[in-house]
Amino acid sequence: MSIATPTSESRYHAPPLLVVTDLDGTLLDHFSYRFDAAGDALQRLQELGIPLIPNTSKTSAELGPLRRALAIEAPFIVENGSAIFLPRDSFPLPPGGTTFSQDYYVVELGLGYREIIDRLAPLRERFSFKGYHDLSDIELEQLTGLDQEQLARSRQRRFSEPLVWQDSETARSTFIAEVEQSGMQTLQGGRFLHVLGRTDKGLALDRLRTLYQQLYGQQFTVIALGDSGNDVAMLEASDWPVIIRSPSHDPPHLGDNRPVTVSRHNGPEGWNECVLALVDKFLNQRGAIDHG
Ligand SMILES: [Mg+2]
Repeated sequence: MSIATPTSESRYHAPPLLVVTDLDGTLLDHFSYRFDAAGDALQRLQELGIPLIPNTSKTSAELGPLRRALAIEAPFIVENGSAIFLPRDSFPLPPGGTTFSQDYYVVELGLGYREIIDRLAPLRERFSFKGYHDLSDIELEQLTGLDQEQLARSRQRRFSEPLVWQDSETARSTFIAEVEQSGMQTLQGGRFLHVLGRTDKGLALDRLRTLYQQLYGQQFTVIALGDSGNDVAMLEASDWPVIIRSPSHDPPHLGDNRPVTVSRHNGPEGWNECVLALVDKFLNQRGAIDHG
């Protein structure tokens, strides 16, 4: 089944711009998970009708309260590019290969959780690490700073397993190679080494951009914002990559030589500064084309 051809209902009225963002350490403060400092930019996106698309290592269960708090209705990408959730009211027909989950069409790009745990099992005998499901609430609370309700939601994993590495750096490289041989891959996040299927935030972004372009019959420019190594593929898949500075680690390096915006401030404050500036830049360029 293919996605709907553009109809009068699906004509796009907002500027053809998608803002795709990592959450932890990017839109949300690394320590407090607050986003107040990004209020002006969030409001600007809302006024202009520009979709704000979370692309995160978080689970779909964690996204529910966050999307309500952020007052956003756009699609979202979970568990490091493992699945795209499309609100059924804004995407009129499911694209090929979708499943249903409550109010969403779900495009699955990664592997199921059970499969990941099964493939990790033989590696546990030779490497020392703890999986997310091995960790107690107290350990997880100390690692993440999440409260009980947030932890329960973060445990509802469907497509990936975050690990705490407890072995040597040499063993880590061997482990990563063996994970790849078993048809999976790893991604380094701000706190965990994530094991998942052969996908990433960049592949998921490519797929979502294609869905938008098919649905609305026009090109979209993508601004992507992230702070860690697991955001690099997403930043490289965007038109305007933005690295948000972190209080906990150095900015990641992109593989290509395109210009990258690096925020002056950390976390949501930096997010606010960069989104306001780039949305203005986009609208100005577009204005110049429209009136040129
Ligand atoms: Mg992050």
